[in-house]
Amino acid sequence: MKRFNDFFGQFGGRYVAEMLRAPLDELEAAFLDALDDASFRDLLALTLRDFAGRPTPLLFAENATRELGGARIYIKLEGLAHTGAHKINNAIGQALLAKRMGKTRIIAETGAGQHGVATAAVCARLGIPCRVYMGAVDMRRQKPNVFWMERYGAEVVAVTGGSATLKDAVNEALRDWAGSFRDTHYLLGSALGPSPYPDMVREFQSVIGKELCGQIEEKGLECAALVACVGGGSNAIGFFSPFLESETPELIGVEAGGRGTGVGEHAARMNGRGQPGIVQGYKSLFLTDADGQVLSTHSVSAGLDYPGIGPQLAHLGTMGRVRFLTASDAEALEAVKFFARMEGMIFALESAHAAAAVMRIARDYPAESSLVVNMSGRGDKDLFILARAMDAEPWAEFLREEAAQ
Ligand SMILES: *Cc1c(COP(=O)(O)O)cnc(C)c1O
Repeated sequence: MKRFNDFFGQFGGRYVAEMLRAPLDELEAAFLDALDDASFRDLLALTLRDFAGRPTPLLFAENATRELGGARIYIKLEGLAHTGAHKINNAIGQALLAKRMGKTRIIAETGAGQHGVATAAVCARLGIPCRVYMGAVDMRRQKPNVFWMERYGAEVVAVTGGSATLKDAVNEALRDWAGSFRDTHYLLGSALGPSPYPDMVREFQSVIGKELCGQIEEKGLECAALVACVGGGSNAIGFFSPFLESETPELIGVEAGGRGTGVGEHAARMNGRGQPGIVQGYKSLFLTDADGQVLSTHSVSAGLDYPGIGPQLAHLGTMGRVRFLTASDAEALEAVKFFARMEGMIFALESAHAAAAVMRIARDYPAESSLVVNMSGRGDKDLFILARAMDAEPWAEFLREEAAQ
């Protein structure tokens, strides 16, 4: 029955309080059972197609290619999926699984709100009551996403403990689940947390990579590298998943370089910056101080602003199968501008880190080869941040006028 192996090298595992072992066992068994059931797979595929809008296109970025020189650049447009990002793939998979398990309530954590919005939308569609835990600080920073979650009927609960951000929201969701798992599913949003979440989230996100395989073949591409941004790692591991066992193409993960290399200025865990540790139920690389306390992080993109990386990517990075680069806040903003003008596509600030890396490395590859960048989300959600960074005074005036209405 057991198909996955809890650990990825030294990383992963299930380091949880005794009371959470039974629900994680139940979840793992239900997940493996569902994967083997053709009717579940059919329902998943149908929902991904009709509700999320899959398959997402693979676009040749012709103007960017000409401008940058070097490899042909292709963009996998996850941002065209419903709710604007890849998060919907995992939300649909886990919500269908929860329903199959007979769960009558779903809880989730969210940082920027993208996972919360995707979960709330799917729960509305399936008629399952949904509660989303969100740090009070994040709720203020991401007001529009709180608004949309509530329109989908979710209850958004403000978490005020700790730094009142994502890690505190995860703690609160785990606390809820420990007392409610008999009727409640915890729909975790990235490829991390205690086993089986990293395997389960990768499988539900693997639809990105599987579609890409077909599209590479259909277009006859000579694919040199895949490039994806890495927060917790769900879009990257789903995008990379069919290629993990082979030596090619090169797989490149891009972390948030923020505004510097000092403590609290970035969220780059690989290349020697993160230390092995056990946090929130799994072992991986975390940004911690000498006492093992988790450090604060910074990124202009809320989705990459997290101190830990998914255990499988930590392993693949340590082994050298995935190469890790960083892109700074400023480079990400430039990439948003560049691809908007060149290709008519607004990258989410998270995905723009991958786009920025592509802008830097395209010339290192031969003209007949292709680089594929995963646009994990579209940038509509970043309107307030982009406007402040690119058009501050007219935008502030607009907001003042709106407030005065
Ligand atoms: C949440 C998010 C990310 C980061 O999460 P991963 O699990 O690393 O994929 C990246 N891009 C977008 C658009 C997101 O919403």
